[in-house]
Amino acid sequence: MITSLNHIGIAVRDLEISKALYQKIFEVKDFHTEIVEEQMVQVASFKVGNVLVELTAPTSPESAIAKFLEKRGEGIHHIAFGTNNIGNELTRLNDVGIQLINSEAREGAHEMLIAFLHPKSTGGVLMELCEPK
Ligand code: ZN
Repeated sequence: MITSLNHIGIAVRDLEISKALYQKIFEVKDFHTEIVEEQMVQVASFKVGNVLVELTAPTSPESAIAKFLEKRGEGIHHIAFGTNNIGNELTRLNDVGIQLINSEAREGAHEMLIAFLHPKSTGGVLMELCEPK
């Protein structure tokens, strides 16, 4: 079951410049930063209520985020929803005809298992499912 809005992923070119901007807007005290090797990204995140805002910058030109920035520029990249059983949800969504980018969950930031749904079958919104490990 999809149970919550977990985070909003924002594609940025330069993490330090964006951190300074978000610090100004949200008065962020501490960013949680980490590198997610598998996605070739560096993430700086902070919470607004129960929802994380994830500033995501590529660490390699091969990263999907680098390609997104090239095509569309900086901005909202994806919306992530929490689930209590990512495997079941992927099977269910596949069964109802939703195209999956990841048919199996993989490692994401914040010790989460994650998987993306294809924006072609979600009305243009890149959606991610995530489940704490
Ligand atoms: Zn995400």
